[in-house]
Amino acid sequence: QSSYIFNSHKSDLPMSGGLLATEFDEESCLSRYHQSSLRKPSPYKSSASLVSKLRSYEMLHKRCGPGTDGYKRATDKLGNKHENGSRSVGECRYIVWLPMAGLGNRIISLVSVFLYALLTERVILVDQRKGITDLFCEPFPGSSWLLPLDFPLTDQIDRFQWGHSHRYGTMLKNHAIHSTALPSYLFLYLMHDYKKHDKMFFCEQDQNLIGQVPWLVAKSNLYFIPSLWLIPSFQTELIKLFPQKDTVFHHLSRYLLHPTNQVWGMVIRSYNAYLARADERLGIQVRVFSRPAGYFQHVMDQILACTQREKLLPEVSTQEESKVTNTTSRSQKLKAVLVTSLHPEYSENLKSMFWGRPSTAGEMIKIYQPSGEKVQQTDKKLHDQKALAEIYLLSLTDNIVTTARSTFGYIAHSLGGLKPWILYKPENSTAPDPPCVRAMSMEPCFIRAPRYGCQAKAIKISPFVMNCEDWIPGLKLV
Ligand code: GDP
Repeated sequence: QSSYIFNSHKSDLPMSGGLLATEFDEESCLSRYHQSSLRKPSPYKSSASLVSKLRSYEMLHKRCGPGTDGYKRATDKLGNKHENGSRSVGECRYIVWLPMAGLGNRIISLVSVFLYALLTERVILVDQRKGITDLFCEPFPGSSWLLPLDFPLTDQIDRFQWGHSHRYGTMLKNHAIHSTALPSYLFLYLMHDYKKHDKMFFCEQDQNLIGQVPWLVAKSNLYFIPSLWLIPSFQTELIKLFPQKDTVFHHLSRYLLHPTNQVWGMVIRSYNAYLARADERLGIQVRVFSRPAGYFQHVMDQILACTQREKLLPEVSTQEESKVTNTTSRSQKLKAVLVTSLHPEYSENLKSMFWGRPSTAGEMIKIYQPSGEKVQQTDKKLHDQKALAEIYLLSLTDNIVTTARSTFGYIAHSLGGLKPWILYKPENSTAPDPPCVRAMSMEPCFIRAPRYGCQAKAIKISPFVMNCEDWIPGLKLV
């Protein structure tokens, strides 16, 4: 069933089951309104609790966002290096998100920080200096989520490294924080190489302490939501918000992330030209993590082995066609295959394979790769915009094959509400056997989940977290 993007009106569109606020100007951010006309209706409904939580969050953000008295009062205290914030916490508390690593890493951590903000009634503000305004529209009505450029801690943020005196893990280790001596801000270091004391962030007791600090600045490149579920006081609320536990990223990303018109234009043009008319759409995301990266025959073999074994792509005839069948294209099924990769060779190979020989199933196969940037160029505007457009295009397919441990792929399938087939990581330059596995759920993996300390017992007894298919030490919601 084909769907085109056309000029539709706000009033015609189901706003993602009430998830989205309605008081926006349509022209300034077309993706907010047009996405639902492109997508099949999501089989996952958002709960009434989530909808009302988001509405009250929007009110909080309006009350405390940049430009408000609440924001001014809170930042004045920071400027004065006011310590022992707890006694003077106003009604506005904040968490600042800093962009780290590639776009996929940034998005999973942004969504994680947003959920944390919802749960703890903090206002999320995002560092705008790395081009987030080129990628996403403002998500909250009547206010801005951009951290003002004159934010008093800006210099500190840039200098913040391992040993920073306000890093939560460091303060704990040095016994420099307790309920009677609280700082006015804390740095949360939740990066892939964080340490034991940083991981105490995921303990109930520590949350009680952290909750009293007015400003948090989070540096993260992780999807840490599964471990928030294992904190008892959060769990009670999370169960209400997300009765279907594997839909957290799906709902939150659809609520929070709306590509700018420039990015959305790229999505629309590709979709209309290459995907809209197809009877079926397959996405294949090829991320090569080896150094050097590039084209490898074993990766190509793995892609073919997976897609053919799982009947996502037909086989091609082993003999050259002597008799050309006279079928007209109208009666043949058209399958569009969207390949995304930094490397153009994988799709070129697929293209020549299906051109050179007929497919055994008689389908027409159309291969399309929007870009082939060759190397990662994070923070270059057009490069990041292409990456984002491709993530959204992948999310619009019917079936998706992704690469193990790629956050780029995580976002695409979760946004799309798709359980991916994950290509296992190749070892010793050979295609793994089996080549891929069907994911148990559409949720991203928390690849560096803490497994010891306060979380250990909860992991054992919680049936809704499992080891990730693509990385055993990781945890994901199912
Ligand atoms: P991860 O490293 O796979 O977890 O994903 P990230 O998104 O964090 O970092 C990879 C970055 O490389 C992306 O953000 C893009 O800048 C670039 N990249 C990787 N794969 C692709 C792709 O298929 N298409 C495009 N356009 N860029 C890609």
